[in-house]
Parts: sequence; C-alpha cells; structure tokens
Amino acid sequence: RSAVEITRETLEKIQSLEPKLHSFLCITEEKALKQAQLVDARIAAGEQISLLAGIPIGIKDNICTKGITTTCASRILENFVPPYESTVTQKLFDAGAVMIGKANMDEFAMGSSCETSAYQVTANPWDISRVPGGSSGGSASAVAADECVVSLGSDTGGSIRLPASFCGVVGIKPTYGLVSRYGLVAYASSLDQIGLFSRSVEDAAISLSVIAGHDPKDSTSLSICIPNYTANLIPDFKPKGKIKIGIIKETIGEGLDYFVNQAFLKAIDQLQALGAEIRIISCPHFCYGLPSYYIIAPSEASANLARYDGVKYGYRNENGDDLVSMYAKTRSSGFGTEVKRRIIIGTYALSTGYYDAYYLKAQKVRTLIQKDFENAFTQVDVLACPTSPVTAFKSGEKNADPLSMYLTDLMTIPVNLAGLPGISIPCGFDNKNLPIGLQLISNALREDLLFQVAYAYE
Ligand code: GLN
Repeated sequence: RSAVEITRETLEKIQSLEPKLHSFLCITEEKALKQAQLVDARIAAGEQISLLAGIPIGIKDNICTKGITTTCASRILENFVPPYESTVTQKLFDAGAVMIGKANMDEFAMGSSCETSAYQVTANPWDISRVPGGSSGGSASAVAADECVVSLGSDTGGSIRLPASFCGVVGIKPTYGLVSRYGLVAYASSLDQIGLFSRSVEDAAISLSVIAGHDPKDSTSLSICIPNYTANLIPDFKPKGKIKIGIIKETIGEGLDYFVNQAFLKAIDQLQALGAEIRIISCPHFCYGLPSYYIIAPSEASANLARYDGVKYGYRNENGDDLVSMYAKTRSSGFGTEVKRRIIIGTYALSTGYYDAYYLKAQKVRTLIQKDFENAFTQVDVLACPTSPVTAFKSGEKNADPLSMYLTDLMTIPVNLAGLPGISIPCGFDNKNLPIGLQLISNALREDLLFQVAYAYE
C-alpha cells in the first residue's frame, strides 16, 4: 500500500476511536497527507528511505513541531505554535515517518494518569473507565489502540514506562543524553529524556536507531556512535553467551499487587528458560528514589517554568493593572493545580536556608542510588523488576491523593535519577484483564542489551 493509503486508513480509524479514547489533542490530517504524498513521491523516484517510510506516528504534545500547536496540555501554552522543529521530529520526518497528531499528556508532563491535562482525559483502550497512565498517556493509548504504529513520549520519572505498562505496549526510556532534547519543553532538565512507544521490541529498536545520536543543538547530547539496535534480536540468549539478569530485591514482596507479583515471577522463569542466569541483587537505596525525585524534579521545574510569564509566549491574562499583577494573574489562571503544587514545592526547596536541607540532601541520595546501580552492574548485565506496583486504576481514583499517585512511579524513578535506560514490555494480565509491565534496566548506553533481552522474552 502507498503511504497515502496507509495514512487515510489510519485517519479513518482515529475518527472512529477518538470519541471514546481522546488520545490526541490535535489530529494533523493535512500535514499527514502532505507528508505521505512526499514519501510516495520519494519512493517513486527510486529513493531508499527507511523502514519508517510511510509509518503513522504520534508525537507527545511537549515536543515542538513547527507550525503545529504544542501546548504541553496546558492553558498557558494554548495557542503556542513553535517556529521551529524539534530534532527528533525532524529526524523522523527525514526518515519518511508521517505525523498523525499531537498526543495528550499530563500538564507539563507532571502526573501519572494523563488526568492533569487541561483539555481532556484519555481513556485506557483495555478498559475505558481506567487511566492510560502518564504522563505520556495519549502516546501510549494511541499505540495500544492502533491509532498509530509508533509514538514519541518523554520520561522524567517514568512517563514512558508507566503508560506502556498500563496500556500493554513497549516503552523505552533511553540513556540520558542519547536522544536530542532540542525542542522538548523542559520539565526537570537533569532527568528529562525523549523515548518512544511501539507494539513490538523490533519496532522500538528500529525507531530508536532513527532518533538517537548527537545533536549540536543540545548540550547534554552525547557524542557517540549509535550501535545497530536490531543486530542482537534473536530468539534466545544461548548463541550470544550467558546473560545475567538481576532481580532487584527491594522491589519484590510487600506493596506489590498480587497479580503483578505473579506475572513478574513467571516472566523471570521464562527468562531463565531462555538461557539467562538469574540472581537476586540488592539496591538498598532504591526506595529513596521517590522522595529524592519529589525534591529534585519540582525544584528544576520551578526554575524551568519561570519563563511562562505572559510576556514572551502563550497565554496572557489581560486583567492585570501592572506588570507584577499581570504575571500573577497569568500564572494563576494559566497553570493547573498539580503544576502549581510542583512550582511551590520547588521554590520552597530551593529557597535560602532550605537548599542544604532539601535539594542538596536529595542530590546526595541520588548519588547513593547511582552507586547501587554501578555496583549491581558489576554483577549482572540487566536488572529486572515490575514497571509499576499496580495495574491501570480507575479515572478519578487517585486525584484527591497526590501521594498515592506519586507512588505509581516507585520503580521507574531511580532509573532516571541514575540516567540509565529502561524498557517496559508487556508480561501478562491481572484478573481484570489489565496489562502488566516488566521493566528491564541496563547500564548506560546498553540499549542493545535491553532490546536483546526484551526481544527474546517477547
Ligand atoms: N509521574 C511523575 C511526575 O509526575 C513522572 C512524570 C514524567 O516522567 N514526566 O513527575
């Protein structure tokens, strides 16, 4: 089929599913058809494009797309149309991928359920009374419901892996610095990383090869050669020698949903049957990831979000009498509750007198978590744990209790604090037929290992 045909079919499917799912904040129909025509023309002219040529993709709405609104699901950026293209979308377009729409998310990527979006609540395709996870919930539900083949998300504390787990798809957060963040709206700059969703490990490996790589426009982007991520996609581990997989001791047992625990143990048995050696590894500071994250991330967010003042971009409340009241009114009415909560926590943690007690302490804990991982990877190649202690919860269930919402990220956050790559792959269902995710973590820049283990398991 031609790219135009695939695009038309996809757009029709989206039309029929969106009234229930609300995965997208905007459908970029015109742009998609134009891009598809271009791909067909390039192919007709004999050009070998890439495996992504003509493939429909969704883009999280915190990734800037030239000429197309990029709202971060916030009122404060309601009419923001970026004058430039992010590096990741440019790379995908050059590879012939077709952008179908901008995906819904938690406002400024702050949340675990997609419910803090100022515009709409996205449903989980497995049970529409439940959340898709967050913050990249729209990107995950779109792939799960076949509204697109691959989608981009961002992951600061689990925002790709958690929704991948809740929606039963593959989600990878690469090593910090592997993928350019030029054009990604900043949340917590020492943690943010762009990654992607797909239905198969192979699709994820192919797509990561396209978006990874050094970018002079992003000073945190690493200058390295990108390996061939599809080279090790083979059915079991034996031909490549023994793979050692460590179960993170602190993640099993208490607090874990019964069915999540069962599915995880079954997945470990399966990995062993494929030829992996299984060990139990202790990461004693793993559980301090969550509290240290909720100092570091809001602190960085409070600084990053200072730029939304009604002057340079986005929404401005016109009712202010002077500059200061214009700022206050714009920010009061432009940001939602969760974003304001983070700004207040972050501003408090960074203020004089509190900095040492909170921010500095959190950074020290972060170092201890990094050391736990360093030590673990002297003993095993890959670490494994459930992606989330629970499966998808009901919409509205955790809204009144931010702490219980924060707890869903217990297993994913330490990975961001250490800058490591992590992948979530489907590993079964609970008694309500809701998907469960298996998280695999590797040392920095060993995405090839993650793909190898994930592919053999899948
Ligand atoms: N749920 C976490 C938060 O609210 C993680 C979000 C993310 O990774 N962007 O901060």
